Amino acid sequence: MKKVFVLVVLVISVVGLGYRVTTVSWYDNGLEDYRYRLECLTGEKATETVYTVIVADSTGEFCRLSGLPYWVLAGVRDDTIFMQPLSLNYDPIRSIAHELSHIAFRKYGFPYWVEEGLVCIVTCEWMGANIKELADIETVEPSKLDFYSYQKYSFTAWKRVSLLLQEHTFEELVKFFSESGGGRF
Ligand SMILES: [Zn+2]
Repeated sequence: MKKVFVLVVLVISVVGLGYRVTTVSWYDNGLEDYRYRLECLTGEKATETVYTVIVADSTGEFCRLSGLPYWVLAGVRDDTIFMQPLSLNYDPIRSIAHELSHIAFRKYGFPYWVEEGLVCIVTCEWMGANIKELADIETVEPSKLDFYSYQKYSFTAWKRVSLLLQEHTFEELVKFFSESGGGRF
């Protein structure tokens, strides 16, 4: 009996020191506005799929589990969302919406910069911001960027895709980018 007790204490302390696992879907509280924008943009109902979210306990653990650089707040790998410790994230709900949007847009096969731009439209991330744009986002490899150039990358993507959507419908973007193999509009 004593052995069992020790084992339980050990398991609890390991859980207490390590990452936490939770789940999320587009229908969870707090995501309504994001879901509405996603559905308006794509013209499709958001999936009811429930995704796993792993919240790391430290930045080192986040990098180890996700394979992402230390300056990324959250990311997706194989439909699992990885997040930095919540103490580092001032808007975890928006981060979740950002990653859920990446998963939602992935099926259309857009070049990554178009996907990032669409995601930021759903999350309203760059509204009102004025950052120096990054040239050649079409050819830049996002995983090779650092924190500051990634901010520029994301902002530029948001701005360009917002402009495209002033003149074209979402369906036209899907058609164009699937036929052009990722070329410029
Ligand atoms: Zn993103």
